[in-house]
Amino acid sequence: MKDEKALVVFSGGQDSTTCLFWALKNFKAVEVVTFDYGQRHALEIECAKKIAEEQNVRHHILNMELLNQLAPNALTRDDIAVEEGEEGGLPSTFVPGRNLLFLSFAGVLASQIGAKHIVTGVCETDFSGYPDCRDIFIKSLNVTLNLSMDSSFVIHTPLMWIDKAETWALADELGAFEYVREKTLTCYNGIIADGCGDCPACKLRLQGMETYLHSKEIGGVL
Ligand SMILES: [Zn+2]
Repeated sequence: MKDEKALVVFSGGQDSTTCLFWALKNFKAVEVVTFDYGQRHALEIECAKKIAEEQNVRHHILNMELLNQLAPNALTRDDIAVEEGEEGGLPSTFVPGRNLLFLSFAGVLASQIGAKHIVTGVCETDFSGYPDCRDIFIKSLNVTLNLSMDSSFVIHTPLMWIDKAETWALADELGAFEYVREKTLTCYNGIIADGCGDCPACKLRLQGMETYLHSKEIGGVL
């Protein structure tokens, strides 16, 4: 695995940045791809660019603005508020098929740059309810990508079965806890690092960090 190249699906957030560090540890060569679909905050792209530059990895940015035509929603339009979903329902940030599209484009790009491995930070554990973040979908798509391009991609999902606290633990293990905490953007309101503290993404991230720090007994509550 060490001698091969990996492409990381990269948004500049906590999860994908942790995946970037995971890939840097496990593969000889790493490149990252960010999908630009008119994010609520262009800052998200800037944030991803900066991290890629600092980690010295080649950064591909693909224009996916057609997603706006397909699924206007809270992540891409300023006039729709981000709301948590009804219990068991999908949050207003849901774009049907988003991950399907992103990972398919990542597969095409991986093929072009000669990367056998595709790394994505999708996760079943955070209960976001996105069907195309589930393990079964990723496995299915892995087969489809291989059949469609007659290749042997391996899709890696280091975060699939871990929660936010364990994602912080993984970042720490990789020596990147402070980096991930200070440089990444998860907040729906576009505030870097610890964020606004109030949106669903911030709540999840902060709760995870508090749980991790508490379990590590180096500070407890922030
Ligand atoms: Zn926030």
